Amino acid sequence: MAGNFTLEVVTPEKVVTREEVQIVMAPGTLGEFGVLIGHTPFLTTLKLGTIRYTDSKGEEKTIFISGGFAEALPDKVTILANSAERRRDIDLERARTALERAQKRLGSESAQDIDFTRARAAMERALYRLRLAESRRKQ
Ligand code: ATP
Repeated sequence: MAGNFTLEVVTPEKVVTREEVQIVMAPGTLGEFGVLIGHTPFLTTLKLGTIRYTDSKGEEKTIFISGGFAEALPDKVTILANSAERRRDIDLERARTALERAQKRLGSESAQDIDFTRARAAMERALYRLRLAESRRKQ
């Protein structure tokens, strides 16, 4: 069996986790990738999605990220995310409100006042959070 290494997920606001893990899967912009201990060092960008990992006790966990960067070293993976939260911490009501707000903006008549790229990104974050939180309920 492979050994444990450190996973750190941080945002400009907080440290979401710093713990020992067995394997990490992450949404690279060029495709999802997996990291085990002793991996060749690399740096990559991440898209919106989930960091999935198995902790040192064998428990599988999921963290939402809205995109960012990953640095893999032989004994540590660091995820720098724009925003991130554990699946169990997703606030459904907040995500629903964010989705409605974004949809309203995207459907707005006064188009010159709307930053569509920003509204679309907000909508994608909200939709992803809702989907992830709903999948937690079904488990
Ligand atoms: P909102 O408009 O509700 O702030 P957002 O997509 O613009 O949503 P982000 O900029 O991605 O929010 O994140 C800002 C902070 O709020 C981050 O710390 C993120 O983890 C947290 N956050 C945002 N939405 C939720 C949610 N639905 N549940 C839990 N935490 C959230």
